[in-house]
Amino acid sequence: MTVDVAIIGGGISGLATAYDLAGRGLDVVVLERQVHAGGNAVSERIGEFLMEHGPSTVNAQSIAANDITKRLDLNGEQCDLGAGVKSRYLVGKGALQGIPVHPLGFLRSNYLSVKGRLRLMMEFAIPRNRSKAEETIAEFAGRRFGREFADKVIDPLVAGIYAGRAGELSVEAGFPKLHSLEQKYGSIALGLVQHHRQGAKNMPSSRLFSFKDGIGSLPKALAAALGDRVKTGVTVRRIQKTSLGFSIDVGDQGKLATRAIVVATQPHVVAELLEDVDVWSSHAAGEIEAPPLAVVYLGYKRKDVEHPLDGLGFLAPESENLSMSGSQFCSTMFPGRAPEDCVSMAVYFGGARAPENALLPAEELTAIARQEFKDLVGAKGEPMVARVRHWPRGLPQYKIGHKDRVQTMLEANNRVPGLFLTGNYISGPSVAVCVDQAGKTAASAWHYLNDHVSSKIDQRLEQAM
Ligand SMILES: Cc1cc2nc3c(=O)[nH]c(=O)nc-3n(C[C@H](O)[C@H](O)[C@H](O)COP(=O)(O)OP(=O)(O)OC[C@H]3O[C@@H](n4cnc5c(N)ncnc54)[C@H](O)[C@@H]3O)c2cc1C
Repeated sequence: MTVDVAIIGGGISGLATAYDLAGRGLDVVVLERQVHAGGNAVSERIGEFLMEHGPSTVNAQSIAANDITKRLDLNGEQCDLGAGVKSRYLVGKGALQGIPVHPLGFLRSNYLSVKGRLRLMMEFAIPRNRSKAEETIAEFAGRRFGREFADKVIDPLVAGIYAGRAGELSVEAGFPKLHSLEQKYGSIALGLVQHHRQGAKNMPSSRLFSFKDGIGSLPKALAAALGDRVKTGVTVRRIQKTSLGFSIDVGDQGKLATRAIVVATQPHVVAELLEDVDVWSSHAAGEIEAPPLAVVYLGYKRKDVEHPLDGLGFLAPESENLSMSGSQFCSTMFPGRAPEDCVSMAVYFGGARAPENALLPAEELTAIARQEFKDLVGAKGEPMVARVRHWPRGLPQYKIGHKDRVQTMLEANNRVPGLFLTGNYISGPSVAVCVDQAGKTAASAWHYLNDHVSSKIDQRLEQAM
């Protein structure tokens, strides 16, 4: 039997691609090596607590994410940020500092020195960068906003979004909107004002949503909609090009023939699987690092935590020398994350900043998280719940040269007809962007099958008759 499209990897990217293609009437199969589909989107109930092992939020401004939620009939499950989310926090001088989100409020706050704020206000007067050389996010932010803003605001933001270091990631690849604002308007501030005037809807937004039972509801619903087209516990060992498409080797479970293939795995798996099929993509993927991450989930009695936890959580600049890179106040963010008289938090370790931290044993990580929480939010006593999730491969690092690497991979179909790649290393790591990218990948695969394969298959069938 030959399927139209085989999708390797049943994370959000693979499932969303398959869902789109199945909706277009194609015969698809998803091959996922884990027992459950979903990739790193895993939500676990621990009594009345809810732990997110991976993603915990979806960008509410994403058309693709809203659309898929609607099509899967998940709107009734959707939950918005809780009313308790009032502040944004960054760590400064060893303590949580409330950060106003409005630019004027931020400029009035004391998080940056007076010099740092004056420098920030000069952003509109800094000339546009005319050099063609790719800049890191740290270089870009230092040049436009000043060193202090770069170190104390952009650095923790990059750790929060990419689990990366601003000094290593490419601004063009990691923050393309900021880069294009500078190119178009000569200034980020002027560009934002201009966008605001035009009522632009596609600017970065802080509005987020989840589902009552966590982000895991999304892959669960996708897998349910796809039914037996999702094969779990199936590890793809090798891909080979054939005259009709591809042959996929799944070890003891045999081989599968497919007309087109979408590789939706982490980049290191792309590198391995495509070694004999498309050496260009294999090399490019092999250059994308994904340092390990660990998540420590802690639940406390409300009375045992001094801080009001009235925000999303906090991020820590590297200069604060904490072991953790940041935390989320899970029970404040969304309802139903902890029992009535309790609170819950997630703490993030590792990433490019300190990969070795993410490899520490669970007990050690829990002890560090508890100590740093004691200092930062006054969490005392024994937590009611403590759970650790290690991710040996965390988030892909959009380093200098990333755009070229991605371009090479997006052109795979030109070199190897029928081969497509999708995933969180292409246009952004967020769930919403993965869903959006999956839609684009599905459209490309569909066009390919329509334009090339159907006619050839029909011809072969005609010749055979
Ligand atoms: C700790 C953490 C927190 C995050 N927080 C957020 C957040 O709050 N909001 C947000 O929007 N995003 C967040 N993200 C990012 C987001 O979750 C991911 O980028 C996204 O889920 C990636 O989905 P994916 O399908 O591309 O990859 P993955 O989820 O990695 O899926 C790839 C799949 O391929 C499978 N696979 C690999 N090799 C094979 C093989 N040989 N054969 C078959 N199957 C194979 C794997 O088992 C896996 O299921 C977070 C990520 C992490 C790790």
